[in-house]
Amino acid sequence: MFLDKKLFIPGPVDVLPDVATQCALPMVGHRSKDYAELHGQLVERLKKVMHTQNKVFLSATSSTGWMEAAVRNCVGKKALHVVNGAFSKRWYEISLACDKKADKIDIPWGSAAKPADVKVKLDSGEYDALFITHNETSTCAMTPLDGFGEICKKNNVLLCVDAVSSMCGVKIEVDRLGIDVLVTGTQKCFGVAPGLAMTAVSQAVLDRSKIMKDKGFYFDYMQYLKHDAKNNTPSTPPIPQMNSLNYQLGKIMKVEGLENRFKRHREMAEYTRAWAKKNFALYTEEWCSSDTVTCIVNNRNIDLGTLSSRLSDKGYAFSNGYGDLKGKVFRVPHMADRTMDDLKEYLETIEKIVGPRP
Ligand SMILES: *Cc1c(COP(=O)(O)O)cnc(C)c1O
Repeated sequence: MFLDKKLFIPGPVDVLPDVATQCALPMVGHRSKDYAELHGQLVERLKKVMHTQNKVFLSATSSTGWMEAAVRNCVGKKALHVVNGAFSKRWYEISLACDKKADKIDIPWGSAAKPADVKVKLDSGEYDALFITHNETSTCAMTPLDGFGEICKKNNVLLCVDAVSSMCGVKIEVDRLGIDVLVTGTQKCFGVAPGLAMTAVSQAVLDRSKIMKDKGFYFDYMQYLKHDAKNNTPSTPPIPQMNSLNYQLGKIMKVEGLENRFKRHREMAEYTRAWAKKNFALYTEEWCSSDTVTCIVNNRNIDLGTLSSRLSDKGYAFSNGYGDLKGKVFRVPHMADRTMDDLKEYLETIEKIVGPRP
């Protein structure tokens, strides 16, 4: 058994040894000056990655926690959810579980919404929050976000975006795009261990949250805002992951460069798509195909369970289709600190196992 399998799954991803080691730094109390320094520096670095001046909150939750927070703090009248895969469906279900009024717009899986798809509904004035999954990890569809912000702003609708599997691998300019809530986490494109999730919230969101009822306690933005003023969190934060992420972002900015990181993700995506077209077929419509993970149709009816165990023997963790797509598609992630050489080697290994296309 390989204990150090290369994880070709879309999260959690492999963490580079120097980044992982940061998790083992001596612990500090979260009300100490040392902690405040770490918190402040990390938040400033995250703002650069997110291209935002908005508040950035940190919590010891997985990203789904901040998805629920967005619902609880932003939806007063009614939520509108774009659903084009399993994670966007989850967000809709979170709204219902929080007892919110919510509608969904179903977009075919493998495709993405365009601003025109939400315009008529939002112009009706019924809604006060729109939820979009930027990078649908289940279908590998990445939604171009331009144009949604304007429609939302005009209608006093808060734009909430899940960028869990794209932020730090793809350039997402939160302020320019008018994103009110941005949700992300450490274990995908950031290349850090799971356990810390990050969210950026606009002033409009804070104004809404202030008067919102039934927010519960743990995810009340007002609690985070109060503690943000002291570079702190309402309850104990995941300090090991924060050390690791702070180091990782410092290194990305100094060594690779953010723009180069985005470029590397795009190049690996292009390589993977070309490989997929040669050997199988692409599942996702090309205009909205993801830069961080590629979904490939199993049009040769290969037994993906067998492929998975053959790859496992060679030291790779393989990613089958998610949920209903299991067996029908498989996914090749190319995110975080994955290199083009790693990726080529993995795809060649698959080719060797399944043979050339008949
Ligand atoms: C992974 C993922 C999530 C869930 O993240 P957790 O950290 O497991 O809660 C949500 N949305 C998308 C698009 C994801 O890829």
